[in-house]
Amino acid sequence: MTASIHEDVERVILTEERIRERVAELGAAISADYGDEPVLLIAVLRGAALFVADLARTISSPVEIDFMAVSSYGSSTKSSGVVRILKDLDEGIEGRHVLVVEDILDTGLTLKYLLKNLASRKPRSLEVVTLLSKQGKQRVPIDCKYVGFDVPDEFVVGYGLDYDERYRNLPYIGVLKPEVYTDQPPSVGTSAQGDGYS
Ligand code: 5GP
Repeated sequence: MTASIHEDVERVILTEERIRERVAELGAAISADYGDEPVLLIAVLRGAALFVADLARTISSPVEIDFMAVSSYGSSTKSSGVVRILKDLDEGIEGRHVLVVEDILDTGLTLKYLLKNLASRKPRSLEVVTLLSKQGKQRVPIDCKYVGFDVPDEFVVGYGLDYDERYRNLPYIGVLKPEVYTDQPPSVGTSAQGDGYS
């Protein structure tokens, strides 16, 4: 039998069912807030790809979807807050309702930069939905209107979140066994994005 990615998981933090229920609640709240107004979901690649696919299907307001990819400058262990845009939006956002879709809010440095950049493009409104938020880790205040779950300060994978580009396809969110890490677990509270897509 071939090895399964599930065998590398030490602990499940959020089950598939809990994620599905919470995503539906977020979608209902977003639908209630936007009503018939069109909303542009901007998903931050790659981590938020799975989340946005599920979230969009729970929103009843007219939705459009666009993607951005960003990379943090600096070493893999320190989020500098300086962000490079690897892939920009395909369309302008001026005068539109924009909802940024994030996988996880850690220090908040990446999102802070992104929001400043997007705000300069004059959207009609600019809000954030994040699936996960690391408790007590934000180094900069981020006004995040919709938060799926507060999670402890541990390195988590699954449902779009990777370790070394793997485990994004786990249907749940969990913590890996220590022996899976080639070196040591990616330093949490810093940017785990390295120089590529998150
Ligand atoms: P921030 O600028 O908020 O510190 O960085 C947020 C980004 O770091 C997330 O979008 C994600 O790519 C990455 N990140 C932070 N914590 C984790 C984690 O626990 N697991 C994974 N896979 N990525 C994380």
